[in-house]
Amino acid sequence: MNSFSEYPFDERIRKAIDDLGYTRPTSIQSRTFMPIIEGRDLIGIAQTGTGKTAAFVLPSLQRYLLRDPGEAYTGPRVLILSPTRELAAQVKESIEELAKYAEFRVALLLGGVPYGKQVKALQDDPEVIVATPGRLIDHVQKRNTHLQAVDVFILDEGDRMLDMGFMPAIRQIIGLLGKGPRQTLMFSATFPEPIARLASRLMKDPVSVDVTPPVRTPEKIRQGAFYVEKMRKPRLLRELLALPNMTSVMVFCGMKVEADFIYEVISGDGFNVGVLHSDRDQKERTRALQAFREGKYSILIATDIAARGLDIKDVTHVINYDLPNNFEDYVHRVGRTARAEADGEALSFVTPGDLLTFNKIEAHLQRAIERFDFGEVTIPWTQQAGAAQGRRGR
Ligand code: AMP
Repeated sequence: MNSFSEYPFDERIRKAIDDLGYTRPTSIQSRTFMPIIEGRDLIGIAQTGTGKTAAFVLPSLQRYLLRDPGEAYTGPRVLILSPTRELAAQVKESIEELAKYAEFRVALLLGGVPYGKQVKALQDDPEVIVATPGRLIDHVQKRNTHLQAVDVFILDEGDRMLDMGFMPAIRQIIGLLGKGPRQTLMFSATFPEPIARLASRLMKDPVSVDVTPPVRTPEKIRQGAFYVEKMRKPRLLRELLALPNMTSVMVFCGMKVEADFIYEVISGDGFNVGVLHSDRDQKERTRALQAFREGKYSILIATDIAARGLDIKDVTHVINYDLPNNFEDYVHRVGRTARAEADGEALSFVTPGDLLTFNKIEAHLQRAIERFDFGEVTIPWTQQAGAAQGRRGR
């Protein structure tokens, strides 16, 4: 099916979809809507940018709307866990947009910000909780809420949860859920073993939906790489950022100190730039992200904390100032550009020491990354082997 009208969505949901200008379901959506509406458990393997948030929000809302409106409130019914604060905030926004005609109360529970507003949101009898794991546990322990009435449990970005060490917290949260029947939905870009084990423990006969294409970065992203000595990377970055087509650029660094250093350099050049990493407090992070979203900043320097899931429209370029250590992170970073229908370009800086990692990433991609030179700033790719040897010999 490839039209929203073919699904049994309530008029209130249809109107919200129209308002957002979605004309047809994305590939993952066309495969999750019916099973979720029918109450099945579901495992969705999908990278961000595929429309996966709406893929679980819309049918969950639809199911919710079918309930008896006179039913007494017994506690939050839908629980969505997200790995990062930014992502959770984004999911909440998405629910509010999609449910704007359906009067749904959503509480957002995040770490790193004061409790007051969250406690108030919980006192408001929300139907839905969107939370990061630690803060949710805090609230339950403080008896600000309970999870006994949760009958839809959604785990978003499962692999990321795992990477961030959230598995024990997730197990604890599962222990806090009520014993009644429950629908469980799990989304992840990849499906590592611990996630598979959790799924098999938690889910009954789940439907599996895999929209991961064999080449996992969107086709529309042009991918290129520069071969450059480490000490020349700041100069290469500055020259690239000065190009007229670099209108909305995310620059990824491996470490927080590196991100701060680059931020100093780039802001010293007079660019409108923000920085996003986990040493900045939540206010600063939100402000930086917001300013980048609104176009006040044309450049956002970030560590991998910002690489996953964030949905920022019209990012024209992703620059891997530091090459990520693995393919998964590469895919997540690169996926920040060419969201939904747009085009984008991802450029990686490859130092002689990165060659091995770079070759592995490219082999995984099953697609060539274009080799670019940049005048005298970069090392010509033709000198690849020699340069690597030269470095070893030094
Ligand atoms: P996500 O993968 O959930 O982060 O979504 C990526 C982007 O796609 C978001 O900006 C959504 O608003 C957008 N989107 C979701 N579903 C659709 C659709 N059916 N048509 C067009 N855009 C969509």
